[in-house]
Amino acid sequence: MQKTSVSTNSSLEMMIRQQIIERGITDARVIEAIRATPRELFFPRDGRAAAYSDRPSPIGHGQMISQPYMVALMTARLEVQPNHRVLEIGTGSGYQTAILSKLAGEVYSIERLKPLLDSAWERLMDLAARNVHFRHSDGTLGWKEAAPFDRILITAGAPTLPDALLLEQLKDGGIAVLPVGPQEGQILVKVTRHGDVLETTDLCACRFVKLIGQNGWADKQD
Ligand code: SAH
Repeated sequence: MQKTSVSTNSSLEMMIRQQIIERGITDARVIEAIRATPRELFFPRDGRAAAYSDRPSPIGHGQMISQPYMVALMTARLEVQPNHRVLEIGTGSGYQTAILSKLAGEVYSIERLKPLLDSAWERLMDLAARNVHFRHSDGTLGWKEAAPFDRILITAGAPTLPDALLLEQLKDGGIAVLPVGPQEGQILVKVTRHGDVLETTDLCACRFVKLIGQNGWADKQD
């Protein structure tokens, strides 16, 4: 037992140092939230050996848990404060949700695939994350009853910027981070809302699974 926890701990510390801090993400609150979240719990049992690897990994149903660096980058650029209400679209494994729950006041997380949502819910309950609200639905429609949000994070690739959603459910002055672009490769963008204007800054190239829904990609097998 002792041995396992020591090796997990050193894998975690190595991930934080080599994949996150040495690549320029140094925000202390973000690093602490990552340090306090056992990433292996968010993997299927037979996939846990890859928990601290420098890449995205499969979580079933054709979906992926994001690469640690990508989670750190998105979280840092979102600039989450303790009083914030955050909308997350694409719960997936719930790993990013757990990190947001340590930084924000309330987290509202939407997932379209019920089995993934159920597993994420169980993990977050085990970790006693009491400020997370889950919904099984199409996140491209947002969460009207809980809007407006200080922050919106979309962790699946949108074909185009979902302006209508952002103008309807992001607070004035609020920040959204999301991947936008074709399926083969997207750009991670940071969007700041100034009244009716959405100011967009490109962060980096990335590759996410598709955001599928009414204001995303069509729901078809390919
Ligand atoms: N942050 C997650 C990423 C999961 S992958 C993690 O690191 O585990 C993206 C997730 O978005 C998938 O689980 C996918 O099912 C979900 N998704 C795609 N389109 C969606 C939509 N319209 N509404 C809600 N979830 C969606």
